[in-house]
Amino acid sequence: MNDPLRKYWEIRLNRVKENLEKNNFEAYVAESAEQAKSIVVDKIILSLKPSTISFGGSVTVVQTGIYDALKRAENIEIIDTYDMSLSPKERINQRKRALLADLFITGTNAVVENGMLVNLDGMGNRIAAITFGPRHVIIVVGRNKVVFDLEEALQRVKEIAAPANAIRLNRKTPCAKTGQCEDCSSPERICNVWSIVEKSAPKGRIKVILVNDDLGF
Ligand code: SF4
Repeated sequence: MNDPLRKYWEIRLNRVKENLEKNNFEAYVAESAEQAKSIVVDKIILSLKPSTISFGGSVTVVQTGIYDALKRAENIEIIDTYDMSLSPKERINQRKRALLADLFITGTNAVVENGMLVNLDGMGNRIAAITFGPRHVIIVVGRNKVVFDLEEALQRVKEIAAPANAIRLNRKTPCAKTGQCEDCSSPERICNVWSIVEKSAPKGRIKVILVNDDLGF
C-alpha cells in the first residue's frame, strides 16, 4: 500500500462523517484541499444559491482557496470579514452583518470522533454565527483537528490552536512567546468564549467538509 497514513485517515474520516450525520450535520469527506473547494463552491453553493456569504476567521478557508474563489464570484454579495484595509470599526460592522448572511463559511478548532464541534473565540462572533443567524453554515476542517473525545478537544484547542493563532495574529499574549497557554489576563487574550455543538439544528443547517489533509491550526 502506497500511503497507509492516508488510508488510515480515509477510514477514520468516514467514521466521523457517519457520526456527524447521526447528529444531523450534513457531512462530506474530501481527499484534498482542492476537492474540498470543489465540494463547497461547485456543489453546495451551486445548490443553495446564497445571495450573501460571509466568513469566520479561518486559516483553512484561505488555504483551501475557497475565500479567493468566492471573492471572484458573480451575483453573490461577499461580506468580507478578512479585509485588513478596513478600519477596526468597519471590521466589527462586517462581523455583525455576517450574522445575517445566507451562508457563513468557517473552520472549527476541533471535531470530536463522535460528531461534535468544539470552538474557542476571542469575541464570539464566529461561534455566534455557527450556532444561530446565518441560514446555512459550512465548516471546513483538516484531519489534524479530529480528536477522540471532548477532553482531547479542549486540550488541543488550548495547547495548539490558541497559541498558534495568537502567534499568527501577532497578539501580545504569553503564549505568543512561549508557545503554551499561561491562562493569561492579557487585554489581547483570544480565549474568551467556548462552544460545543452536539447536533445541527435544524437538521442539515451545518455542513461539515472533512479534509484528508492537514489544514489550519
Ligand atoms: S488564555 Fe492567554 S495564554 Fe492561554 S492560549 Fe489564550 S491567549 Fe494564550
